[in-house]
Amino acid sequence: MSSKTIAVHLPDGAIREVPTGTTPLEIANSISPRLAAASVAARLTPVGAAVKPSSAADEHASEAAMYAAEDAAAPRLVDLAMPLTTDTCLELVKENDPDALKILRHSAAHVLATAVLELFPETKLGHGPATDSGFFYDFHREKPFIPEDLARIESKMAEVIARDEPFKRESAPREKALEEFALDGDFMKTHFVTKFTAPGDQVSFYRNGKFVDFCRGPHVPSTGRVKAVKVTSLAGAYWLGDEKNPQLQRIYGTAFFSQKAMDEHFARLEEAAKRDHRLLGKQLDLFSIQELAGAGLIFWHPKGGIVRKVMEDWMREECLRRGYSLVFTPHVMRRELWKISGHEGFYAGNMYTPMELDDAEYRLKPMNCPGHILIYKNSPRSYRDLPVRLAELGNVYRYERSGTMHGLLRVRGFTQDDAHIFCTPGQIEDEVVACIDFAESVLKTFGFHEFLVELSTWDPNDRAHYAGSDENWNLAVGSLQRALDRKGIAYKTIPGEAAFYGPKIDIKLVDVLGRLWQLSTVQFDFNLPARFELEYVGEDGERHQPVMVHRALFGSVERFFGVLIEHYAGAFPLWLAPVQIGLVPISERHHEYAHKVEAELKAAGLRVEVDDRNEKMNGKIRDFANQKTPYILVFGDKEQEANAVSVRTRGKGDQGSMPLAEFIAKCKKLVESQSTEL
Ligand SMILES: [Zn+2]
Ligand SMILES: [Zn+2]
Repeated sequence: MSSKTIAVHLPDGAIREVPTGTTPLEIANSISPRLAAASVAARLTPVGAAVKPSSAADEHASEAAMYAAEDAAAPRLVDLAMPLTTDTCLELVKENDPDALKILRHSAAHVLATAVLELFPETKLGHGPATDSGFFYDFHREKPFIPEDLARIESKMAEVIARDEPFKRESAPREKALEEFALDGDFMKTHFVTKFTAPGDQVSFYRNGKFVDFCRGPHVPSTGRVKAVKVTSLAGAYWLGDEKNPQLQRIYGTAFFSQKAMDEHFARLEEAAKRDHRLLGKQLDLFSIQELAGAGLIFWHPKGGIVRKVMEDWMREECLRRGYSLVFTPHVMRRELWKISGHEGFYAGNMYTPMELDDAEYRLKPMNCPGHILIYKNSPRSYRDLPVRLAELGNVYRYERSGTMHGLLRVRGFTQDDAHIFCTPGQIEDEVVACIDFAESVLKTFGFHEFLVELSTWDPNDRAHYAGSDENWNLAVGSLQRALDRKGIAYKTIPGEAAFYGPKIDIKLVDVLGRLWQLSTVQFDFNLPARFELEYVGEDGERHQPVMVHRALFGSVERFFGVLIEHYAGAFPLWLAPVQIGLVPISERHHEYAHKVEAELKAAGLRVEVDDRNEKMNGKIRDFANQKTPYILVFGDKEQEANAVSVRTRGKGDQGSMPLAEFIAKCKKLVESQSTEL
């Protein structure tokens, strides 16, 4: 027997000497059988490799990610049953690990394919990756599946799971595998093996029961680990996206480690569907997208327009209060400018094509930065003028592929609450702290209480990728870190994620459904000040290059509005609500009093609508309630005589009557404090 041993480094620092061929499962069992039972897979990292974050950002399924060769230094996920043959760092992946669910869902895709082949043996297999919310598998059959087949497939999957078949890894020479696939007419498998393996390779297969699939793995130990699974939908897709190719049937599903987790997932989806901003945008008449005008271009209707005005007024006032100057810059600018800024080079794919005028070519702006830079450059600057903070609610236009647009969230024209700060290196830390303060204030004011912060830094081992000196990078990363530390904010550092021109802080808010939204960014830039040769005269009388920071807090006004609509399910707090108070006179003889109340409320700066149609009172109340109006005031003889109003509060119902003056005072207080309560 070979006496060869390997060293397995565990996360607690312990090092185990084990015989080569020992599996992660055996190591887990030697620690505790409970740990072994709770583990799904193992994460291996070469000993001494720099620890990189796991691939949480890389959630998008792609065939390449499934089969492609891996970065040798990156952590690698393997089966618990994979024999270990070299020294390695080993971490057991348990059910609560973000990678565990992906492994489970991909394993569920194998279960789906097993079920499909048992029911429809003539089917040819494509591939079955995990996605953000579940998994799919592509199949090819002469006779397409019908929706009724899905129920049969789902119950067959339950049988495969109940059989608790282990997933076993096997391997075969590539040429033999290709021969067999060709013999069976498995054109998709032939494609994947050809594309993602090299001549002479051994290719890996996974077997559960009689089912075998070409796959790199890893998988959960057995089909029984899939505790909850559901087939969700069926869609057609052309093989390799080409309509000349055969049509495939893509079956979607999702899977979880427990029924409870799956129930919660579907409850969340149902809630999210009710809050869909595209649906509410129509229902509440806030905005539209017009076929005739083009996709991804937003029309703000009067009610959405009012919310936008309130958002923008707040933002502009805050900018002024915090020492920013407000500027406006053109929507189209000469192509020459975009050459100097570098957008013509690295950003051209996102820009609208140039338009030829009599004197030069022009392009729509995709970013506001060059405009602000021209304003900075227009006057000589001394250290005494800095920091210069230029802010603009600037409309930008960016090309997005047709078919990728999504309501207010992904568009071709939008408004950034953009600002650029030009300062000395010594001022930068305070400026970053002020930006974070401002961002916190945006989130709090608009009703978000939770957020996550990420610091994207460079990879110093990949020096050629980044503009700016080492000194600049160290200053920038250091000041971002110190600013976050001074604020006492917990953050995650992501090395190698920075743009080539500087490190950044991203702030992601958490909405009422626990979903993350990337909105605010504070981004350093070493590139543009150099390209535009920006200067200031320092205390020493010499010329220096200022430090430049881009920052946006809403991010995009359109997108932020979309997030607000979903966060509040259209029931905006009083200060943001398009119509704050709906007035309902009971009969015609109360119209005069209703209009008198309307005038008083308007005089107090409140947004009011009177429903003096000849309709039943209950219908009018219902209409205001459907519009999610915060307060509905009903008037009859009694209210009219007492100069009072009968108040119905959204979410609370009939609150009885109250003197008009008292109601106005209450509303004014709620609006001024931007309260989320009624
Ligand atoms: Zn697989
Ligand atoms: Zn910028």
